[in-house]
Formats: sequence, C-alpha cells, structure tokens
Amino acid sequence: MTFNDLNIIPEILKALSKENYTTPTPIQEQAIPAVLAGRDLLGCAQTGTGKTAAFAVPIIQLLMEQPRKPNIQGRVRSLILTPTRELALQIDENIRAYSQFTDLRCSAIVGGVSQKAQERALNKGADIIIATPGRLIDLIGQKRIDLQYVSILVLDEADRMLDMGFINDVKKIITKMPSKRQTLFFSATMPPEISKMVKTLLVNPVKVEI
Ligand code: AMP
Repeated sequence: MTFNDLNIIPEILKALSKENYTTPTPIQEQAIPAVLAGRDLLGCAQTGTGKTAAFAVPIIQLLMEQPRKPNIQGRVRSLILTPTRELALQIDENIRAYSQFTDLRCSAIVGGVSQKAQERALNKGADIIIATPGRLIDLIGQKRIDLQYVSILVLDEADRMLDMGFINDVKKIITKMPSKRQTLFFSATMPPEISKMVKTLLVNPVKVEI
C-alpha cells in the first residue's frame, strides 16, 4: 500500500513525498479512507503512530474539495482541539508541511503567548485552527472567532483533556459549532466520562485501534 492507493490529491501527495513519507502507517491506512468518505472516527492511538497525518491529510483534502467561500474574518472551517500548547504547535507545523502546496491557511491558538498575532491570523480568515481550550474560550468570549461554519472537528488526546480539567471548556466550545459536522475523536484510554462524550458526539463512527 502506498499513499497513491488512498485517492489523495496531487497537492498533498507532493508534500508527503517531500517529507519522505512513502508508505502510510496502519492508522493512516485505516483512517484516511474513512475520513475522506465523510465518516466520524473513533481512534484509540498514541502519539508516534502517525496519528497526526491520519486526520490532517483527509481534512486538508476535504477542505480543498469543499466549495471555497472567500475567507471571512474570524471564520474557521476545521477545528482541532488538543490538551497542550506543545502538541498544538507540533500539529500546526505538521499541517503546514502537508498543506504547503495548497492555499489553505492554518493557525495555532494557544495560551502563554501574546494574543495579538493570533488575532491577526483569525482576521485574515483561517481554514484550520489548532487550539488549546483556554485561549480559544477567551477568543470566543471576545467574539474574535466564529465556529458556526466548522465542518470538521478533531478532539485529540481527549483523555488528557479530561485529566487536565478542560472537559467543561471543551463541551462549551462544542456548543458553538453546528451539530451537523464530521467529528474525529482520539483518546488513548476510555474512562466513563470519555465514553459518554463519544456516545453523544459521534454518529456511527469507524473505530480505529492501534
Ligand atoms: P505522530 O504520531 O503523528 O506524532 O507522528 C510520529 C512521527 O512519524 C512524526 O515525526 C511524523 O512526521 C512521522 N510520520 C507520520 N506518518 C509517517 C509516514 N507515513 N511515513 C514516515 N513518517 C511518518
């Protein structure tokens, strides 16, 4: 199996080849076709398995295939929620690499740094936002970000977001998005609170376990 067998658009294939990715990892092999088909996804996978490309590649492709509206201030098309700043910045860097031959805009929204640059990125219109819950809640409160047009949501390391006390923030953020959307949910463990969220958020998900 190669990335060519997964119906990936040439812009992304070129980027993967530039990153020296030749064969998809097992999670990529399973997740990419499911996400491209519009399915919800439940992934039990650790970092290090190629999880980021497993969700990022099909998201980039789906956004490229959706009719483009002019980038409107504050409007976001895909939101990726992660527990830590380091993880958000890592995912942002990966998505920039995978989307380098597209015109999609991607930006990290994290705490611990000045909000100004993040406001500027949002003002230009961002297709993909990778965010930690705290700073995102602040920007939502200030009406600087509009989640009403999010078509794909990723919850990454959901169990860690629970452990770190972010779960109410996450639930609040989700209420700002349309309920008709695609949701990709990743968690290494499934404590009861996480199982409950899975049941309420995912519709007939494809399950991927590594
Ligand atoms: P992740 O689990 O997403 O953090 O990825 C772990 C590492 O594997 C990262 O350094 C990626 O750049 C790399 N990687 C992901 N997918 C592939 C692939 N198909 N081929 C080679 N390297 C990969």
